[in-house]
Amino acid sequence: MRAGRDPSAVSLVAVTKTVAAASIREAVDAGVRLLGESRVQEARDKIAVLAGELPDTVSWHMIGRLQSNKAKLAVQLFDMIQSVDSLDLAERIDRYASEAGKVQRILVQVKLHGGETRTGVTPERLAALLEGIGRLNSVAVEGLMTIPPLLETAEDVRPYFRRLREIRDRAEAEGFRLPVLSMGMSGDFEVAVEEGSTMVRVGTAIFGRRDYG
Ligand SMILES: *Cc1c(COP(=O)(O)O)cnc(C)c1O
Repeated sequence: MRAGRDPSAVSLVAVTKTVAAASIREAVDAGVRLLGESRVQEARDKIAVLAGELPDTVSWHMIGRLQSNKAKLAVQLFDMIQSVDSLDLAERIDRYASEAGKVQRILVQVKLHGGETRTGVTPERLAALLEGIGRLNSVAVEGLMTIPPLLETAEDVRPYFRRLREIRDRAEAEGFRLPVLSMGMSGDFEVAVEEGSTMVRVGTAIFGRRDYG
């Protein structure tokens, strides 16, 4: 591998938003085990359609912004919620997970650029959030996720990936355990892996262009 990293150290989340069930089935037949969705309702419908058809080893990841009124359903549907960015949301997830007798695996989404209404906690507030989440019994933080700004080239995005890794390293030095770094999409996953990604989220490069029509 170009980055000189062990391929088994990087997992692939196939992003299936807008993708039809038949194509998801094909991807799973080809060996994909992690599926990423960004809308709770869309995921619910797909999971219902595919119920009983996918191996038990398939897991679904929530990668989009999670509204707090959808937290309960998200806990029912997803093995991993990658987009937690507030203690309020984490506490809700904790409550529903506790009721369901589940420990919900999550990532904390970090916002590395201003503008827009991007989900994510700022680096300055990360430690306080991790500390708060650490007190919850039914939520397990496994790492960090980020969505960099849309830029021209993958090289332009590299500093954002590097930054998330540095933030993770600093948090680990402070005692938090954050083995997962979810970063890299179709246009930039190679650069993300070079910068330490352990989980890439790839849609278009697997399924082709999305049709939102
Ligand atoms: C859609 C999406 C992806 C996949 O994007 P591609 O460019 O199609 O690979 C990855 N992460 C998130 C959070 C997304 O919403």
